[in-house]
Amino acid sequence: MSGTKIRLFVEHPLGPGQSVPLNADQAHYLFGVMRLGPGAGVALFNGRDGEWRAEVAAAGKRGGTLTCRDQTRPLLPPPDLWLLFAPIKKARTDFIVEKAAELGAARILPVQTDFTNSERIARDRLQAHAIEAAEQCGGTSVPEVAALQPLSRLLAAWPEGRRLLWADEARVGPAQTLAPLPRGPWAILIGPEGGFSEPERTRLRALPFVTPVSLGPRILRADTAAVAALTLWQASLGDWAG
Ligand code: SAH
Repeated sequence: MSGTKIRLFVEHPLGPGQSVPLNADQAHYLFGVMRLGPGAGVALFNGRDGEWRAEVAAAGKRGGTLTCRDQTRPLLPPPDLWLLFAPIKKARTDFIVEKAAELGAARILPVQTDFTNSERIARDRLQAHAIEAAEQCGGTSVPEVAALQPLSRLLAAWPEGRRLLWADEARVGPAQTLAPLPRGPWAILIGPEGGFSEPERTRLRALPFVTPVSLGPRILRADTAAVAALTLWQASLGDWAG
């Protein structure tokens, strides 16, 4: 692994000379798995202060301390994009969260829809996946994974000024371009394997902030659809678009 930059997400504030305590998992990773010793370099980010170069000051089995040196990158928050998706099987849900973090979603919101069978999600595990993805892809912030909530409740209290791009499987066909749509706060909605129910479709069609969109001529699995929609949005309205 030599030459590989080790990046670690921490909760602690980062600044020149700042001492950063490590918890048991972080100590195990840095000193047990990566075999770092005193003086070794680590890149730190906390979602608020950008990326910082730090050095190991004390290495123990169940803890340790890093000392922060200088900022290597400013905070680069992703565009204000939420991903709403209906949880599916564990491995595929993990995949969606990991890819959403890599592709630059700012918030990840699991939603219960009429055809979602998931009653609960392992929010801590999903948040840990988002952190890991941000660590490995060079992100300086981590998307928050929200608690599972009914789609209907979220739509009823929809924040003013945020638009919703609804991946609507009924529009399967040529994908349209998003370019004429305004930039600003957006969310993407991906349905479960069973798709959306008729009452959901009727409601979504009537909401003024919703734009239905096709993701091309093939029906995609929900996890593929999440990646495709995030890519389409980032390329047209997000931080790939320049
Ligand atoms: N069972 C449904 C498909 C669900 S696919 C059916 O056979 O019609 C899971 C989700 O992925 C959908 O709810 C939708 O949000 C998204 N999706 C998949 N393919 C899509 C496409 N070609 N266009 C738009 N959305 C799509």
